[in-house]
Amino acid sequence: MAPIKLAIVGIGKIVRDQHLPAVAGNADYRLIAAASRNGVVDGIDNYKSIEEMLAAKPDIEAVSLCMPPQFRYEAALAALQAGKHVFLEKPPGATISEVQDLQRIASAKGVSLLASWHSRYAPAVEAAKSFLAASPVQSMTVTWKEDVRHWHPNQAWIWEAGGLGVFDPGINALSIVTHILPKPVFLSSAVLEFPENRDAPIAASLNFTNADKLKVEAVFDWRQTGKQTWDIEAVTEQGAMRLADGGAKLFIDGKLTFEKPEEEYPELYRRFAEIIKSGVSDADISPLTHVADAFMLGKRKFVEAFHD
Ligand code: NAP
Repeated sequence: MAPIKLAIVGIGKIVRDQHLPAVAGNADYRLIAAASRNGVVDGIDNYKSIEEMLAAKPDIEAVSLCMPPQFRYEAALAALQAGKHVFLEKPPGATISEVQDLQRIASAKGVSLLASWHSRYAPAVEAAKSFLAASPVQSMTVTWKEDVRHWHPNQAWIWEAGGLGVFDPGINALSIVTHILPKPVFLSSAVLEFPENRDAPIAASLNFTNADKLKVEAVFDWRQTGKQTWDIEAVTEQGAMRLADGGAKLFIDGKLTFEKPEEEYPELYRRFAEIIKSGVSDADISPLTHVADAFMLGKRKFVEAFHD
């Protein structure tokens, strides 16, 4: 099959860090254009807006949308209406209903929509899922603590409404939890901490349960300096599981049982090509649903102002 003619929109940190190397290393794609107000990709045609790009390059078959979530729907709509397959960076949108609208339009147009969850492709996630399938889980604890000044310096959008604040990394944890747990859970209580000068939380603690009374606790915090923590721990009938370093390593009863080099974005692009070839979509919104529930059910605390 000829390579998929791909365009990328919203040229910023994640495009440079991950998308460009992943696409360059995958023979299923030929990157032919980019659209961004300021950013450019060397060696291909660049445009200031997706509308201008789609009009100038009708041979584009698929687009990856990498701008912040609050600005993604309009771009996705333009691409879907033009009959292109669409890769949505995470989170797939700023609201659940706008993503559902995109699902409906993709289906009507007969094109593929990928709501990408890169953390689900962390190396040890499938091993953790297999372990939990065979070993009934009694409780789970999620600890996602990182330094926002290091990972998101001067990203104004992330602190604005729809930018999700600490849920921008926290949704990665939720994308893993929703993938590895054998049965779904739902939010039962939450506390969100908002800096008094910001519209998005800097920390959150969440409690989930389900009909089996499973307890899942999650703590997300952006004020962590020094060692960063991205761990999911489970007490199970067959022992203690720890999925560590954002899904990179799996420990059972303290013993390292699975580790492989990280290939999250190459795996995402492999998946995108696969769904395009099979004529299906892959747009699970359960991680975004949990975040929406936290904004709906969570108590709010105001904490010290945050300045970059
Ligand atoms: P970013 O660099 O701040 O933004 C990406 C690009 O989007 C910007 O360079 C900008 O390009 C464009 N943009 C910004 N505001 C816009 C607006 N109002 N309208 C249209 N375009 C706008 O952010 P990022 O870190 O790449 O993150 C982008 C997405 O990727 C987020 O959803 C994030 O959660 C996800 N992600 C990020 C990381 C990471 O490590 N950074 C990891 C995984 C996923 P122009 O000014 O050229 O238009």
